Amino acid sequence: MNFEYAAAPESRSVVKIDPVYGHFINGKWVNGSSHFNSINPATEEVLSQIALGTAADVDAAVKAARNAFDKSWSKLSSRERGKYLFRIARIMQERAREFAVLETLDNGKPIRESRDVDVPLSAAHFFYHAGWADKLEYAGVDTTTAPHGVVGQIIPWNFPLLMLAWKVAPALATGNTVVLKPAETTSLTALLFAQVCQQAGLPDGVVNIVTGDGSTGSAIVNHPGIDKIAFTGSTEVGKLIARALAPTNKSLTLELGGKGANIVFGDAAIDETVEGIVNGIFFNQGHVCCAGSRLILQESIADEVLEKLKRRMDKIRVGDPLDKNTDLGAINSAEQLAKIRELTAAGEAEGAGRWSANCELPTNGFWFAPTIFTGVTQAHRIAREEIFGPVLSVLTFRTPAEAIEKANNTPFGLSAGIWSEKGSNILWATQQLRAGVIWANTFNKFDPASPFGGYKESGWGREGGRHGLSAYLKGSAK
Ligand code: NDP
Repeated sequence: MNFEYAAAPESRSVVKIDPVYGHFINGKWVNGSSHFNSINPATEEVLSQIALGTAADVDAAVKAARNAFDKSWSKLSSRERGKYLFRIARIMQERAREFAVLETLDNGKPIRESRDVDVPLSAAHFFYHAGWADKLEYAGVDTTTAPHGVVGQIIPWNFPLLMLAWKVAPALATGNTVVLKPAETTSLTALLFAQVCQQAGLPDGVVNIVTGDGSTGSAIVNHPGIDKIAFTGSTEVGKLIARALAPTNKSLTLELGGKGANIVFGDAAIDETVEGIVNGIFFNQGHVCCAGSRLILQESIADEVLEKLKRRMDKIRVGDPLDKNTDLGAINSAEQLAKIRELTAAGEAEGAGRWSANCELPTNGFWFAPTIFTGVTQAHRIAREEIFGPVLSVLTFRTPAEAIEKANNTPFGLSAGIWSEKGSNILWATQQLRAGVIWANTFNKFDPASPFGGYKESGWGREGGRHGLSAYLKGSAK
């Protein structure tokens, strides 16, 4: 017997969205000269008008950040700086529901995830870094060196608030000031965060938020008053930034794309593994740089895993992101949906077998059913390129050495997963894999104390933990 779920929508009355937003510069709201629409990707409803930041707006923000660095922030004791971070963290917790609903409206992710993952983890990042602010000498970082000064931070649309927290919290804890640009499609929670900075009484100019598109990001990267750039986004833009900064003295950290391998050995606990595979690729619609987007299955159990995986995928609830029962929300933009469609069409054209969950997709907004491709070879585009959507490419292996060879056969190296009953097997595989984060018998687990970052084209440097702190000081980790 099938029981239908009753709708359980979260109320959106908790959020107030202004019809038009300006930039947040020097603690004040500054009108933009032109604007673009921010839409709800689940319905295509226009939520607000966002200011398109110009080079002049970026210049004003950098000047404000420099002034704040010289006159207030660098003069404060580290203990006082920590107090502001604690205050921000607590206000984020107090306003958690508001942040979660706004994030879901603007991004399309299920409220279950924004409420239980994005917002609590964002607050946790501020708490974690608040704790370090006056204890840097115990963090293993070189405290004889100074903060960089003004840091330009450019973030993507997949975890808008969480990426802001990953960037802003360590920068402030180490004494830097910030000019941050959120992604064009997801500016609203960054603008709510600006209100939190005001509420916390943060000195003017310590955090500046300039909204806009790639040209605004480029103006930040190329501004001579910026001392360090921290970027999360595509490898393509990461390379552009690395080229632009090569002849300068600016410091740079990059968190880029991935094509994570999720390796399942024949002795793995299959039901748990199936849950882990689902979490690895369908969490946040697969808009996750460290997603387990390549499933590498031992041949002996491949049929059983695939049968159970398909049965489980048919139970994934796709639809209204504000419904508390929803597992998979909307694709973030029409552009991203087009990219997913293009790559999945290439998968079929190249001969892989396509299977999608049996779900009804809403007619408005941007949607893609959870999909797997079987019979994928390493030459297929869907095995090599980041799809950044709810699409899993399945490869198989016979020997452990073959699994490792396939897992490492990628220009990326951000994450990997291993499923096995044997600790010795896990430790052996971990030592062979070229990935910054490796999960064993779990996937997509994050903690502010744990460094995150990749090898090869997945980026430079680490974020989070003590390693992430050192990236915001001129010296390197001891
Ligand atoms: P981008 O790299 O284009 O965007 C990331 C951020 O950089 C956004 O704020 C963007 O602004 C900004 N930006 C764009 N162009 C420039 C530039 N020339 N100089 C400085 N900043 C710039 O990623 P997309 O959002 O376009 O996504 C494309 C692909 O990137 C995805 O399909 C996915 O594969 C990958 N990606 C990886 C992420 C990760 O976490 N590793 C996160 C997001 C995407 P704007 O949004 O206004 O264009």
